[in-house]
Amino acid sequence: MGTNLDGIDEKVKYENAWAQLRIMRRRYWLVFAAYIPWMFLIMLTLKKDLYVIIGFFLHAAVTGYFANQIMKFMCPRCGCTFYQCQRYHNSFTKSCLNCGLKANTYPAELTGNRS
Ligand SMILES: [Zn+2]
Repeated sequence: MGTNLDGIDEKVKYENAWAQLRIMRRRYWLVFAAYIPWMFLIMLTLKKDLYVIIGFFLHAAVTGYFANQIMKFMCPRCGCTFYQCQRYHNSFTKSCLNCGLKANTYPAELTGNRS
């Protein structure tokens, strides 16, 4: 038992990874939710079909970019992609598809829990 310096460094690594994931997810949902106000803004101010179409694709591109960033998130324990396992992917999963580590948790060897 007891935490050594390596254990503390490991814990910081996990904290940083989960914080990064939270930021990425928040950023994604914020952009996703901005769709309706964004489109209203374009329709009310620019009033041209072409700009509405451009606005739609711009929003789709930004949303897709942020979603892709989340899909590339690396699990802090196994170092593989958290939401992808070979050809299978699930962006709603709460645990790593490669090693099963739950998001926002730490492996048992760091917490001292032997459950
Ligand atoms: Zn993993």
